[in-house]
Amino acid sequence: MVYSDPYTPTRSYYECLDCGYREATESLRSCPDCDGATRNIAVGRE
Ligand SMILES: [Zn+2]
Repeated sequence: MVYSDPYTPTRSYYECLDCGYREATESLRSCPDCDGATRNIAVGRE
């Protein structure tokens, strides 16, 4: 049986600070819509 760690994220979510655009990706430097700054938002609990 394979042990899987439930706390290991398979993907990260990035959210634009300007327009709120969201994308599930491993890396997103700028928003594709408004070219604004993005931040990595956690999927799990805080
Ligand atoms: Zn944006």
